[in-house]
Amino acid sequence: MGLIEILKDLVYPEKAVCLACGRKYDHSEIEGICDRCLTRFSFITEGCPICGREVIPATLIAGEPCPECRAERPPFKLARSVFSYSGYAREILLEFKYGHRPDLAKPFADLLYLYYAEYLADKEIDFIIPVPMHGERKNYRGYNQAERLAAQLSQKTKLEYKDILQRVKNSLPLYTLTKKARKLELEGAFALKEEIKTDIFRGQNILVIDDIITTGTTAAEISHFILEIMQAENVYILTTASVPVKVM
Ligand SMILES: [Zn+2]
Ligand SMILES: [Zn+2]
Repeated sequence: MGLIEILKDLVYPEKAVCLACGRKYDHSEIEGICDRCLTRFSFITEGCPICGREVIPATLIAGEPCPECRAERPPFKLARSVFSYSGYAREILLEFKYGHRPDLAKPFADLLYLYYAEYLADKEIDFIIPVPMHGERKNYRGYNQAERLAAQLSQKTKLEYKDILQRVKNSLPLYTLTKKARKLELEGAFALKEEIKTDIFRGQNILVIDDIITTGTTAAEISHFILEIMQAENVYILTTASVPVKVM
């Protein structure tokens, strides 16, 4: 750091440090991530009205579902993601997931909140639930990023946070598998934590939080579980990122 910067820091010590790039910044719409980083994220403004994913190449007709949702309507009511899982956003999310950076949960939850306000605030949601991570994986990584996001979002929205699900099967990375194999891999993957009663979820609207929608299989399977076992009325999904739907 040069002398001028050091002196500036002494005069303006309140400058924040961007959690993504490490740069000092004066002002940003999202606390913890600088405005320069925010402009590098590929925010989703026009995605599928059901799964929320971007379609590449951009052949989506406004208001029409993507080819995947047309082929098979997902069990959740709707899903939304803040940005497409590519480029810089992917880099920072990988750090959040694998780089032991739980501090990124707060700015990411603030971004989730913007999308919640736009697409979900009128859905009369009763509970916020994180997608669970298998215990072994959580021990290894130190935390479940979905839990961190869901807890933060619950504070912001004042919606009740319920960490009630567990992953009883440590599944393979799903993106390496075919659609059929992914479904099989996730069969029986979710269960209620011990002593959790499902009564309070019956007929309720549940918002499920995760970091990334990769193929949509996890979102679909967890929705099945919540609708069938917990007898909820509707499931909504909100994630930081989603992988675009590619049209051949
Ligand atoms: Zn930055
Ligand atoms: Zn879709």
